[in-house]
Amino acid sequence: MSLNHANALASILGDESRVLTHPQVVERLSRDFYWYSPVLRKQLDGKVGDLVVQPVSTREIQSVLRYCHVQSLPVTVRGAGTGNYGQAVPLQGGVVLDLARMDQIEAIQPDGVAVCQPGVRLGALETEARKTGWELRCYPSTIVKASVGGFLGGGSGGIGSVAHGGLRDFNTVRALEVVTMESEPQVVRHEGEAVHEILHAWGTNGVITRIWLALAPAVDWSQCVAAFDHFEAAFDFSERVATGDSWIKRLVTTFEWPIPSFFTPVKQYAPQGKSLIFFLISSGQLGMLEAGVRELNGEVTYSGSYAGLRTIPLLSDYTWNHTTLWALKTDPAYTYLQCGFDPATVRDQMRQLRERFGQEILFHMEFMKNGSGQVIPGAIPIVYYTTEERLNEMISFCREIGVFVANPHVNNVEGGGRYRADNVQLLAKMRNDPKGLLNPGKMITFHAENVTAATGTTR
Ligand code: FAD
Repeated sequence: MSLNHANALASILGDESRVLTHPQVVERLSRDFYWYSPVLRKQLDGKVGDLVVQPVSTREIQSVLRYCHVQSLPVTVRGAGTGNYGQAVPLQGGVVLDLARMDQIEAIQPDGVAVCQPGVRLGALETEARKTGWELRCYPSTIVKASVGGFLGGGSGGIGSVAHGGLRDFNTVRALEVVTMESEPQVVRHEGEAVHEILHAWGTNGVITRIWLALAPAVDWSQCVAAFDHFEAAFDFSERVATGDSWIKRLVTTFEWPIPSFFTPVKQYAPQGKSLIFFLISSGQLGMLEAGVRELNGEVTYSGSYAGLRTIPLLSDYTWNHTTLWALKTDPAYTYLQCGFDPATVRDQMRQLRERFGQEILFHMEFMKNGSGQVIPGAIPIVYYTTEERLNEMISFCREIGVFVANPHVNNVEGGGRYRADNVQLLAKMRNDPKGLLNPGKMITFHAENVTAATGTTR
């Protein structure tokens, strides 16, 4: 990209220090955690932007997008770059729009809604919310680093989802504002159902600049690790707690052996050969939980109070997709899938997978509430990767036996399992980004030549 673009953008911002062109810096800010997938590694290694721009206000974003629209420059938005599917990796070069400096929490409203900029780290928001008696409803295990905008753009749920569902459920995202990619970029507010036009669209149809996020009343949490001789017993107990209405919980994660052996820093809580459950449970129910574990011949190998994200050990660091990270540290041949099992037939589904794939699939279950209010056994199983064909065979088999798979080995919104069947994300892209400059190549059903015909207008 010509130096002229860098100079022009620096003069638009009035600050050359916020236009980064050093190749190593640009490369670092063009990457995310796509390398968890051996399939994506092949596709995305070496893909980089041409320069990085770091705006500090919505007005600056509008100015940058206006320039990029005129120049037909691709723009890829970046939060903290912790996504797993190459969501923030620019496929066609251009500008990486790094929003890390837009990190203001405007308010924690008395009605339990946080208002903030997109670059706010989820951990900072959680800490701030707890000061006034609130906490995040759900968050990824990358909470310390990940941004609110990136979570909305590319995440789905995590710790807390067992009680409050995913990010797109129960009106958790109350409203958001996006800047459009047009000759005259506009600030458009989405609220109610209209937030789904933007959620999990990977920054392809607008740059989120302001967020209204519903919180939950804060709970005094404790952490607990339970060990069982057999995975079946661990699964039964975790299911009972996860689905039992009377339990106040934030995390119920079940691992079959040998997954616990990967967790080096907490190996003292992982007896050889046993399956583990990691809980975040209300402190008032900790004693009852421990008694329940012992009644079923389980062993409580750790329990302790939870004093926020600096607590050591922090059990959430081993759950959700952090589990895959620990597996990869043990053996780089491991990768993962993202699954939803059928609560009625989950045991049979797991049996069929074990029979067909043996130890190539290791069960790591994450319970979460779905949009209908039912707690279901989600899973991020660890998979021993040999070939892409074998991985696809496993995905197909899962689907054949009724296990939902959100495929983390594809690099487009449609293939990832969170694309809306009503096409609202695509329709928003047609309106907001008619030239197709936002994160191009990631929404594969979008074709710029169809825009005028489909929408009747390019606004
Ligand atoms: P980025 O990676 O920077 O961006 C994600 C996507 O959103 C990109 O497409 C980007 O273009 C877009 N985007 C970013 N900011 C904006 C914006 N302002 N406007 C529009 N689009 C934007 N995810 C989960 O949901 N649950 C988990 O439990 C979880 N665990 C993880 C564990 C590990 C170890 C890792 C590596 C990843 C995990 N993830 C998980 C994925 C990821 O961490 C989360 O989705 C996180 O919220 C992404 O935030 P980010 O700021 O890093 O976003």
